[in-house]
Amino acid sequence: MPTWSNWSGRQTASPTAIVSPTSEAEIVDAVAHAVEAGTSVRAVGASHSHSRIAAPDGMLLNLDGWQGVVSADAESQRATVRSGSRIFQLGEPLHEYGLALRNQGDIDKQSIAGATSTGTHGTGPSLQNLSSSVEAVRLVLASGEIASCSPSERPELFELARHSLGGVGLITEVTLGVRPAYRLHERLWKESPDDVFGRIDELIAATRHFEFFWMPQLDACACKTLDETNDPVDDLPDLKLERIGWSHNIISSIRDDKHTEMEYSVPAEHGPACFNEVRAMILRDFPDLEWPLEYRTVRSDDIWISAAGGRETVTISAHQDIGLDDRDLFEACEAIFRRYEGRPHWGKVHYQSGEDLAGLYPRYRDWWRIRDEHDPDGVFVTEDLARLRP
Ligand SMILES: Cc1cc2nc3c(=O)[nH]c(=O)nc-3n(C[C@H](O)[C@H](O)[C@H](O)COP(=O)(O)OP(=O)(O)OC[C@H]3O[C@@H](n4cnc5c(N)ncnc54)[C@H](O)[C@@H]3O)c2cc1C
Repeated sequence: MPTWSNWSGRQTASPTAIVSPTSEAEIVDAVAHAVEAGTSVRAVGASHSHSRIAAPDGMLLNLDGWQGVVSADAESQRATVRSGSRIFQLGEPLHEYGLALRNQGDIDKQSIAGATSTGTHGTGPSLQNLSSSVEAVRLVLASGEIASCSPSERPELFELARHSLGGVGLITEVTLGVRPAYRLHERLWKESPDDVFGRIDELIAATRHFEFFWMPQLDACACKTLDETNDPVDDLPDLKLERIGWSHNIISSIRDDKHTEMEYSVPAEHGPACFNEVRAMILRDFPDLEWPLEYRTVRSDDIWISAAGGRETVTISAHQDIGLDDRDLFEACEAIFRRYEGRPHWGKVHYQSGEDLAGLYPRYRDWWRIRDEHDPDGVFVTEDLARLRP
């Protein structure tokens, strides 16, 4: 029996079959087989979601054989890439065209379709999540049709496909808005949370990317800023707290320590109060917690089910060791996030029902209605996705 597990090993599943297509025609065939067999079909990217959003209960499509840049154009600042491409595989090819992604998250191991399907984001008050950079999508629908969509071509299908939760179709290509290549100056330092929050607005406004990890055992923040610079690349190995490099070499970090994670997005103006409430709760109720809280910002967007939809956003993430129970910690965090109008990250642990989610997103029922129109038999709806149906 084939098995699947996510990056942390906390989520496992038993797909009925694992298929590894290497062409669009093979992807169409695989979807047709799943339809014929009456099973669901789930594409996985890097299986880096902490939630069960990628968990397959029918056919699993591994897209590692379907990667690469299809085209890129410096003038229109657009690039079309195959859906299984990992983000780290895009940096150098785009750089050869003088281009770069507008922003990236903490790591670059995710596939582009996996990242855009869950609203993956980095940090920066002027920077939106990756789904907001999607300008067109090509996907295989349950009917077997290969559909192209964009804001001007089948706009409702595009609305779902740019942030798809894997539930709309099998994405084969994503066209991204990109920008001219740029260098970033990274600065790292440690500071007390009270001092950070004493100047948090200034820190966020004065830099392109600001973030920190609060370490509960030290009650201290590991802070990081990134700013655009024209200075030359400087990667002297002894310069540990400061360096300059091309964006694709600087933004993402290595995060190999296996953990499980909950993240909520709250309206930016509530960020400090919400963070400090979670911090006080952890110091009081989880004094042994060794994993940090992360604090980031995301610019608002207009995507129906984006956690940053319609509001400037602060994201707060809680982590736990994979060897330890996470439920008590995450439930205690979630209770606070809910009071601050929090919306859960689609790729991280949460305990919200479909009805709860419908209360967080005005267009959530529309999202499901249009999804159902394109896939009436639910070929792209796993049991875990069905739990999110309002
Ligand atoms: C160490 C670590 C660091 C992280 N850092 C960040 C961060 O900085 N910011 C952030 O926002 N998130 C972060 N995440 C979460 C992660 O970015 C998301 O969970 C993302 O979805 C993972 O991408 P993936 O390629 O692994 O997708 P998967 O987890 O494999 O899949 C996610 C969803 O995409 C769907 N999908 C994948 N490919 C296709 C396709 N071709 N067609 C249709 N649907 C598809 C899947 O079915 C599933 O529903 C992190 C996770 C980890 C483990």
